[in-house]
Amino acid sequence: MTKRVGIIGAGPSGLAALRAFESARKKGAEIPEIVCFEKQADWGGLWNYTWRTGLDECGEPVHGSMYRFLWSNGPKECLEFADYSFEEHFGREIPSYPPRAVLYDYITGRISKGNLRDYIRFRTPVRGVTWDGRTAKFTVTVEDLEKKHVYTEVFDDVIVASGHFSVPNVPSFPGFNNFPGRVLHAHDFRDANEFKDKDLLMIGSSYSAEDIGTQCFKYGARSVTFSCRGKPMGYDWPEGFHKRPLLERVEGNTAYFIDGSTKNVDAIILCTGYRHHFPFLPDSLRLETNNRLYPLDLYKGVCWIKNPHLFYLGMQDQYYTFNMFDAQAWFARDVIMDRIHLPPAADMTADTLEWRAREEEASTPYEEIDFQTDYVRDLISLTDYPPFDLDHVAQSFKDWKHDKVENIMTYRDKSYVSALTGKLAPAHHTPWMEAMDDSLEAFLKQ
Ligand SMILES: Cc1cc2nc3c(=O)[nH]c(=O)nc-3n(C[C@H](O)[C@H](O)[C@H](O)COP(=O)(O)OP(=O)(O)OC[C@H]3O[C@@H](n4cnc5c(N)ncnc54)[C@H](O)[C@@H]3O)c2cc1C
Repeated sequence: MTKRVGIIGAGPSGLAALRAFESARKKGAEIPEIVCFEKQADWGGLWNYTWRTGLDECGEPVHGSMYRFLWSNGPKECLEFADYSFEEHFGREIPSYPPRAVLYDYITGRISKGNLRDYIRFRTPVRGVTWDGRTAKFTVTVEDLEKKHVYTEVFDDVIVASGHFSVPNVPSFPGFNNFPGRVLHAHDFRDANEFKDKDLLMIGSSYSAEDIGTQCFKYGARSVTFSCRGKPMGYDWPEGFHKRPLLERVEGNTAYFIDGSTKNVDAIILCTGYRHHFPFLPDSLRLETNNRLYPLDLYKGVCWIKNPHLFYLGMQDQYYTFNMFDAQAWFARDVIMDRIHLPPAADMTADTLEWRAREEEASTPYEEIDFQTDYVRDLISLTDYPPFDLDHVAQSFKDWKHDKVENIMTYRDKSYVSALTGKLAPAHHTPWMEAMDDSLEAFLKQ
C-alpha cells in the first residue's frame, strides 16, 4: 500500500519537502501520498507578511515575525536554491539584497511550477500528533478553521516544518508595568514609521536588534540604544546609536543600566529571541533545544532518533536557509522512500555527538559558517540534490560578515557572485539607506 506522509507547515522548509517529492516523481519514481497542513491562509511561512500581531482572523496566534521594509539580511547568493536560480526566476540577475516581497516571489515561484498547492490544506493547524507502536502509524489531529471541524488522519511518516522564529521569548524588567511608552517584542514589530522621532531602546544583540535598530534609524528614529547582557555587537555605529550593558530597570521613561548609566527612551523593543515550540507534539516526539547550529536527537539534523518515522526540517540556527532546507528535505524524502537506510539508533546518536562536539569547537562566525557548510555538504552528498560550489557560498558568507563589520549601514549595497550562474549581481539602483519603497516593482525597476 502507498505510504502516507504528513507535512506540518508550508513555509520554506515544508515547501522544500513538497519540492523534493515532486522532483522524485518527475524522475519517474512512485512517491507517497502527501498531505501538507498549513495554519495560515497562504504559503511562504514567515515570508508571507501580515500586518496582524497577537491573534489572526481565526483566533490563532499570528505566525508572522517579519515587518514592513524588511530586506534580506544576507546576500541572496547564499540562499539560492540549487535547482532554481534567481536568474531563472526573474529572467535576469538581480541585486544581492532583495526586500521581502522579492524573496517571497522567488520562494513561491519555484513551488508554483507544479500542482503542489493541491497537496496543501490551508487554514488547517495541526493540533496533535500521536504514535501507535502497534500499528507503526501516526494519528494527526487537525482543525479546519473555516469549517470549524476537527478531524484525524493516519500517516506512516510525519515531517515537522513549523519553524522556530514565531513564538517569542519575552523577559520582563522592573518598571515595565509603569513605562509610559510601548514595550513590544520583535515578533510584534511591523512598521518603523511608528518610531519616527523617537528614542528607542533595543534589548538583545541578535539579528533582530541589529536589523530593527538600523531600520528604525533609516525611517527617522531619533536615537537607537542597544542594551545586552553579553558582548555588544561589534560594529561601528554612526552617530545616533548608543551601546549599553544590560538594562536594570526603568523608572518613568528613564532606563537604568547595570553600569549606572541612564537613557530616556520612548519605546522598548525586546529582541530577545524565539522558542522552539511544538504544542501539538507529545513529550516522546518533541524536540527540546535552544537556537543552535546542531540540536541533538536529530540524525543528520533531520531524523528523530527515538522514532525515525518523524522528521524535522529547519530547526537549526541558520546561516544557510533555503538551500539547507532543501538538502534536509531531499534527505528526509530518501529515508521515507527507503532509498537511504538509517543505521542503528546508537550509531545515529554517536554521529550526532560528533557533530555536536565540532559545533562546540566553532567559536568565531567564520568557524560557524565552515561548520554549517560541512553539514550541508554532508547532506547533499547523500542525495541527488544538485551539487553546487559550497566553498564559494561559504566565502560569500564570510565576505558578508566582513562587509557588515566594515559598515553596518551600507553592507546591503554590495554585490556577490552566484555559485549557480557564476555571474556578479548588478548594483541596486538606490543605496539601501535611501531605498524607502520595498515593493517588488520598485526593486526590479531597471
Ligand atoms: C524577522 C526575521 C527575518 C528573517 N530574515 C531572513 C533573511 O533575510 N534571509 C533568510 O534566509 N532567512 C531569514 N529569516 C529566517 C527564516 O527562519 C527562514 O528564512 C525561513 O522562513 C524558515 O522557514 P521554515 O519553513 O522553517 O519556517 P517558517 O517560515 O516559520 O514557516 C513555518 C510554517 O509552519 C506553519 N505552522 C506552524 N505551526 C503550525 C501548525 N501547528 N499547523 C500547521 N501549520 C503550522 C506556519 O504557519 C508557517 O507557514 C528571518 C527570520 C525572521 C524571524
